[in-house]
Amino acid sequence: MAWPFKSKLRAGGHRVPSGGRHARSLIWGRPSDALRGHNRRRVIRAIMVAPSTQVNLAKFTSLSQATVSGIVQELQRNGVVVVDGNDSERGKKISLTSVRGVAIGVEVSYDTITVAARRVDGPRVEVDRSSRGAEHGSQAWIRECVQLIKDVVRRTGLDETDVVSIGLGIPAAVEPRTGTISQVAWALDWEQGMDPAARLQEHFPDVPVIMDNEANLAAYGEYLYGAGRGTETMLFVKSSTSVSAGLIISGLIYRGRHGLASEIGHLVMDPQGVVCQCGNRGCLETVVGGARLVEQVRRAYIGYRVDLPTSLANVVERAKSGDLLCRRVLQDAGRGIGVALARTCNLLNPEKVFIGGELGRAADLLIEPAVQTMRLHSLGGMFNYVAPMSVEASELGLQAGAQGALAFALNVDHVQPS
Ligand SMILES: [Zn+2]
Repeated sequence: MAWPFKSKLRAGGHRVPSGGRHARSLIWGRPSDALRGHNRRRVIRAIMVAPSTQVNLAKFTSLSQATVSGIVQELQRNGVVVVDGNDSERGKKISLTSVRGVAIGVEVSYDTITVAARRVDGPRVEVDRSSRGAEHGSQAWIRECVQLIKDVVRRTGLDETDVVSIGLGIPAAVEPRTGTISQVAWALDWEQGMDPAARLQEHFPDVPVIMDNEANLAAYGEYLYGAGRGTETMLFVKSSTSVSAGLIISGLIYRGRHGLASEIGHLVMDPQGVVCQCGNRGCLETVVGGARLVEQVRRAYIGYRVDLPTSLANVVERAKSGDLLCRRVLQDAGRGIGVALARTCNLLNPEKVFIGGELGRAADLLIEPAVQTMRLHSLGGMFNYVAPMSVEASELGLQAGAQGALAFALNVDHVQPS
C-alpha cells in the first residue's frame, strides 16, 4: 500500500501495558530499520488485517512466498503467531497469539460518525455510531469522534494506550501526495488544504492517524471483509446524503492524480439541471442525493395529514414498510444510479458493483431498476458473458467505511516515536 504517511508523532516514549506482547512494538519501526525488519512488520500488519494463509499473505504484502515463509517460521519460534495445523500445508491459517493492541477505524459522513474497534489478535469488531457528523461543524465532529473512540476501545477490554493506529474516512477528496483535502463540499465548514487527521491526532498524540476519502475506505472494507473478497476489480457506490464511490483494482484503492477518482456523484446527468454543491449543474447527486430524495417525498405529501420525513433514513424505513410514494422515489433513484453506473462500467468494466450507504439498506428496491437501466445504456457483453458483472447490496452496510478505515491504517508503515 503506497501512502506517503509522514509521521507527526510527538517525541517521547509510550507506556507498554502488561499482559501480552504489545502490538505497537511489533508494527512500529524506525526509518533506519533493515529491510528484514520492515518486511517482518509488513507480514505482522497483514495478519492483523486478517489472519490468512502464507500464499495470501505473500499476495497481500507483495513479498515472495519464501520471504513470508521465513518470517512466519521466525514469528512462530518467538511465540508471536500460531499456525493452524488442521489444513494442508498451503491452507494453514496464520494468526497472532496474545498480542495486545487495538486498531480503530472512523468514518465521518455528513450526518453520522461510525467508529469500529478490533483487537489486533481477534475477529470481534465493536462498533458505535453518532448522528452528529461533519455537517455539525468541525469542532463538534472531533469531539464526537474522540468520545466514540474512547467508548469503543473500552468495550474491547483494552485502553487508549493500546491503540496502534486510527484510520479516518472523511466526506472529502484527499490529495494522495500530501494527505490533505483536495476538494470538499461547500456545505461543510472544511477547506482545501485542511488536515482533519492532524486535528484528530491532537487528541491521540502517540498514535498515527491515516486519512482517506470515506467511499474509498468503504470500498476497501467491502473488499477485505465483505462480499468483495477475492474480486480483482470492484466499485463501491456510497449513496447517502452525498453520493460517491471507491474503486479497488488488484487490492489497491485507485485514487487518481488528485484523489478525485470514482466521484460518481458528480457525473453530469443533465447539463441544464439543478446546481450542485460542487458548483456544476445537474450532477447525479442533485438527482439521487439524500436531500433531493427527502425533498421529493415532502413535496408530494404537502397539504396531507402525514408526518413528513426528515431524513433519508426515514424515507428508506417508510419504503420498507410499504409506503408506495417512498418506494417509487427510491426505485427512481435506482434508475438514476443505473444511468451513472452504465457510463462508469463502460469505462471501467468492474467485476462487481456494490451499493452501500443509506440507499444500500433499500437495495431490494433499488438494484432491479438500476440493473434494468444499466442494461439499456451499457455494453451488453458485461452482462452476457459466462461470468457476468453483478450489482449487489454491500454486505457490511453502514459499517463498511469504518472497517475499511481500520484495515487501511493498520496496513500503513508506522514510524516509531523517537
Ligand atoms: Zn456536483
